[in-house]
Amino acid sequence: MKRNLLLTPGPTQVPPQLCEVLGRPIIHHRTPQFQNFLKEAFDGLKYVLQTQHDVYLLAASGTGAMEASVCSFLSPGDKAITVEGGKFGERWTELCRAYQVEPKVVEVPWGRAVSPKVIEKMLSEDKDIKAVYVTHCETSTGVTTDLKALGEVVKKTNAILVVDSVSALGVIELKMDDWNVDVVASASHKGFMLPPGVAIVAASPKAQALMAQSKCPKYYFDLRKYKKVVEKTDTPFTPAIGIVIALTESLRLVKETGLDNLFKHYERLAKATREAAKALGLSLLAEESCISNVLTAINLPEGMDGGKVVKRMRDTYGISVAGGQGDLKGKIIRIAHMGCLDEYDMLTGISCLEKVLKELGYKFKLGAGVAAAQTYFNENQ
Ligand SMILES: *Cc1c(COP(=O)(O)O)cnc(C)c1O
Repeated sequence: MKRNLLLTPGPTQVPPQLCEVLGRPIIHHRTPQFQNFLKEAFDGLKYVLQTQHDVYLLAASGTGAMEASVCSFLSPGDKAITVEGGKFGERWTELCRAYQVEPKVVEVPWGRAVSPKVIEKMLSEDKDIKAVYVTHCETSTGVTTDLKALGEVVKKTNAILVVDSVSALGVIELKMDDWNVDVVASASHKGFMLPPGVAIVAASPKAQALMAQSKCPKYYFDLRKYKKVVEKTDTPFTPAIGIVIALTESLRLVKETGLDNLFKHYERLAKATREAAKALGLSLLAEESCISNVLTAINLPEGMDGGKVVKRMRDTYGISVAGGQGDLKGKIIRIAHMGCLDEYDMLTGISCLEKVLKELGYKFKLGAGVAAAQTYFNENQ
């Protein structure tokens, strides 16, 4: 029997403790019993988001949280900045267009992060811009956006800062309140190590004021419905009951570990993987100044078919990594560090990558990547 190791940036490896919770019989959601779970989920998410603001839970994938973050705050004809430095940044633009919101697109070369100065200039030149949509970790490139610096810029304006932290929440730091982030969109199947099904949106009072005036057509994704009942620890529609319950357990694991320790753990996995790539003579897609600890995007040798690398790692050896998206299709592989993964999972992934690279004719010393990662792990306990 083949193993199935997920080194993918969502869904991620689910730990056995959470599998056990997910296998339990369902309970009804309009019960004090479920309400306790819901309260625990809200409290735990506030801890991870480092926020006092409202958190809303929807039954959707991450894109549902993104959609709600557009249609619940804006109105047709509104202007919004969208930062496109990869596939997920483009999604913000597409969502804005779907709701007749006019996107002011900032194109950033894939592998780089947006400069807060660009956003500052745009906001000062057009005071009608209602929102700035950015991606915390751009999962298609492995770049982290400097949210703190953007928050400094956006807080001085009437616009709200809306962040897609679907892949980053619980993996790298996000201080929602301290950094003046107004809306965070996230989901259950990445840093929280669960199946997809719970979408998470947190909103500041500044964002809630916009929400009250929003005229975009909507029903299920109308966050006002969620806000109305959140104080009573309730959801307007049937939540993804089993996953919410498992989320409380996931959040308990996060709390036990401590946020700082968790971020250090992922950083260690990311850094060892970068060392391995370099030792194999492969470059990294993301620029060093903005490289993410959420996942590592590795440029494959010139002319190699990246699709083949991904397929062979998965179908022959049972190790799932992600390939490139958009223009990067076939050119890179992406190894995620999020989820229930440890150093031996990374070493397994790297050794499998080496094996496949060798099979496809790339010349290097077998074991060089594993040795570099091992050395990093040993020197950084
Ligand atoms: C995974 C992901 C999403 C959401 O994708 P879904 O398939 O809808 O869950 C959004 N943004 C980023 C950055 C992601 O990594």
